Amino acid sequence: MARVTIVGGGYGGITLAKALDGIAEVTLVEQKDAFVHHAASLRAAVDKEWSERIFLPYDKLLINGRVVRGTAMAVKGTTVQVSGEGDIQADHLVLATGTNYPFPAKHLESTTAIAKARIERVRVCLESAKRALILGAGAVGLEFAGELTSAFPDLRVTIVEAGPTILPQGDYKAELRDSIAAQLAERGVEIITGDTLAYLPPIDVGGLAPFRVTTTGGRTIEADIWFRAYGACAATGFLGEDYDEIRRYDGTIRVDDKLRVIDHPGVWAIGDIADVRESNRAQHARDHAAVVAQNIQDIMAGREPSASYTPQSDLVVLPLGPVGGASQVLKDGMRVVEGPEFTNRIKGEDLFTENLREQLGLVG
Ligand SMILES: Cc1cc2nc3c(=O)[nH]c(=O)nc-3n(C[C@H](O)[C@H](O)[C@H](O)COP(=O)(O)OP(=O)(O)OC[C@H]3O[C@@H](n4cnc5c(N)ncnc54)[C@H](O)[C@@H]3O)c2cc1C
Repeated sequence: MARVTIVGGGYGGITLAKALDGIAEVTLVEQKDAFVHHAASLRAAVDKEWSERIFLPYDKLLINGRVVRGTAMAVKGTTVQVSGEGDIQADHLVLATGTNYPFPAKHLESTTAIAKARIERVRVCLESAKRALILGAGAVGLEFAGELTSAFPDLRVTIVEAGPTILPQGDYKAELRDSIAAQLAERGVEIITGDTLAYLPPIDVGGLAPFRVTTTGGRTIEADIWFRAYGACAATGFLGEDYDEIRRYDGTIRVDDKLRVIDHPGVWAIGDIADVRESNRAQHARDHAAVVAQNIQDIMAGREPSASYTPQSDLVVLPLGPVGGASQVLKDGMRVVEGPEFTNRIKGEDLFTENLREQLGLVG
């Protein structure tokens, strides 16, 4: 049986580990003590019940393979050096370490108890805050504005976005932007586009203290709490100099259409860290995993890898709390914009949690 090491137990890593479990000798290396369901992390920042639901155990994921808790420190060929574990050798190494993103969208902490304590502190601060400032009007900043105004209807939220529109990156229809902007305006959210802060607020992200900042465009903004909703960077620093030639400025690494890492035989990359020209999405990470699962099985059977990956168009399901939001999805091959009702049904109410629990073997 081929030995397959997967580094990173996020959406892509767990999908691949499960697909190859029993077919190959699978080792999943993950630094966190629980799976973190990031698609629901913004709700967790405002709702205590949800902060319990986003941390899900790995222990029922695999039947034959193993999950090793540790941080990948370095890679040489298909061998990975893991903190507290030493070298793990493999025939195939799959890199699935995702992106780092500012809290509360993603957490740096690898221990659930500490991550939960940090979320709780933010929630308590939010209960006393009267004005919140969010920097960045991409999907995360907008979704967070929706969660904040749903949980704290009296909170006055301001969003500052450097780009000329909300959702400045990505191929989105004007209808989507208009729907999100109108719903947020109804909730009293002020969106300032084409402007940036002259300097960052003098308090920590998620801390509570009144502050005043000015923008480069000359506006003054006052708030009690602030959040950063920009600055995703692929978590590939541990790969070292060997990967410098194929690493882009944002940390993503180059792959071919089979998702093999360029110039690194036996190494594959899936999910947010792969330099595939599409938005970062959990579903894309899962689709990458399916391609690599097929290709590794082909190689195990003595065949050429048969599965190729085609980048997908920009789709988004963007809830504004449990009720509200808009989505851009494919219908009969056409991109269409759907409103709050559709968005609530698809993501707003359950934030994809039940599917994930099933995948992790936690249902039934
Ligand atoms: C707030 C928010 C909402 C989102 N909502 C949606 C949504 O509704 N739908 C959607 O499709 N996408 C959504 N996304 C995007 C989605 O979360 C990402 O595209 C997805 O997480 C990518 O999966 P991945 O497997 O590449 O990486 P991740 O899920 O980020 O997993 C990477 C894993 O690798 C681990 N890791 C990192 N470095 C190391 C190391 N050195 N050693 C060991 N382990 C390591 C990390 O701890 C992590 O568990 C959302 C993202 C955010 C932040």
